[in-house]
Amino acid sequence: MSCSHSVDCPLFAQFAMEPALAVWKQHYCDGDFTKCARYQIGLKGSVVPLTLMPNGKMIERKAKTKEELGGTALFNAILKGRASMVKSMFASKMSSVQVISSDGSTPLMAAVSIGNLEIVNILLEAGCNPFKTNDNNINALMVAEKKNFPDCAQVIKNFMEANPELKGQATEATNNIEVEDEIKGVVSFLKKLNPFSR
Ligand code: SF4
Repeated sequence: MSCSHSVDCPLFAQFAMEPALAVWKQHYCDGDFTKCARYQIGLKGSVVPLTLMPNGKMIERKAKTKEELGGTALFNAILKGRASMVKSMFASKMSSVQVISSDGSTPLMAAVSIGNLEIVNILLEAGCNPFKTNDNNINALMVAEKKNFPDCAQVIKNFMEANPELKGQATEATNNIEVEDEIKGVVSFLKKLNPFSR
């Protein structure tokens, strides 16, 4: 008998798709699933973190990735008002959607917070979604209004009115990227881990 949680367990999907992880599926999901730490927590009705492995090991947040380092450089350039540098970072294929600070703030919010209209326009052109909110439910327009930068607020307002379809994409894009990134980290960690050790 297989684990009843396999229908909604995100790790099961990875084990099933990735041949290098098949041993995890055999050992836990199709084997002794009652010993799986994820299964045990799930039985109690608690939320099971994606970073919890069946053998009870927890994945630590890894050191900064290349993308995160690129994001830090971008935020620095914005806050120093270096418009040409910001432009060249996007020209070298940095994705505005993937760059988010630790509190969920976007590059657009950073540009607005210093009232730099030139960078605001660069970021809107690069695809930075003005509907995106940070962890405090604040979007770039609210930042502009709060910081009293009416020219930035007007440009963002006009852009939002002209592109209402971006509203739905704002949360969807972020959630997908976060989950995909976390899954990638989990899979690469699992490949190095011995499923038989606790
Ligand atoms: S990883 Fe654990 S909870 Fe998920 S399907 Fe396998 S045995 Fe079940």
